[in-house]
Amino acid sequence: MRFDVVTLFPEMIEVPLRTSIIGRAVEAGLISLGIHELRDHGLGRHRSVDDYPYGGGAGMVMRPEPLFAAVEPLRAAGANVILLDPAGERLTDALARELSTLPHLALVCGRYEGIDERIRTLVDREVSIGDYVVTGGELPALVLIDAVARLVSGVIAEASHEGDSFAAGLLEHPQYTRPEEFRGMRVPPVLLSGHHGEVNAWRRREALRRTRDRRPDLLDAAALTDADRAALEEMTRDA
Ligand code: SAM
Repeated sequence: MRFDVVTLFPEMIEVPLRTSIIGRAVEAGLISLGIHELRDHGLGRHRSVDDYPYGGGAGMVMRPEPLFAAVEPLRAAGANVILLDPAGERLTDALARELSTLPHLALVCGRYEGIDERIRTLVDREVSIGDYVVTGGELPALVLIDAVARLVSGVIAEASHEGDSFAAGLLEHPQYTRPEEFRGMRVPPVLLSGHHGEVNAWRRREALRRTRDRRPDLLDAAALTDADRAALEEMTRDA
């Protein structure tokens, strides 16, 4: 899968994507990256990319010409173009999975007070990482790339992300490692039993419990079995 990023701050993108799991996936050729400095398409002697907002007001707005010049060749190369924007659809596990099936994404990072509205005609979709505002699109682009790239075949073991929070509509069950006892807190005995059936049943029950306690909204859309529903009812009775 290929990711291209159009940004005013390439250094913000380069280092994180050279690191850890995503860095290894790039080295292994599972993912390829292109980072495009928007300033290269800036206007005039100062390579300007922004200007004052028509109608007045605080901050600067990104002009359309440099962004069109940077993005049009990527679109011509077949990229699906995504603008990172607080007004976009919310990034969820389902959206990350959908995007991970596409061969080529081009991510457009805004800055300043935002972008000239006409830039929206250039993109296939707009994505937000949540209901808050950060100073630029680079961190949102990195979040999107990381969430999508880890789902690309071979980047991490499939069994690893299949059990993650949201993948099956629930939060993940609690995890423990050594030592068996730490400051009086013991690992649940079932996890030491070596009995896979009981371990799996405990994990499912605890995933249901955690989801019910912290994100009950997820339960409405989760694919629950009769046994899941019975376990939830039992938890409610015992509470
Ligand atoms: N004035 C804009 C508004 O109120 O919607 C916010 C502009 S923000 C300071 C600058 C850039 O950061 C945006 O153009 C966008 O690319 C990025 N950005 C900020 N918050 C974001 C979010 N929650 N999701 C995705 N991108 C975001």
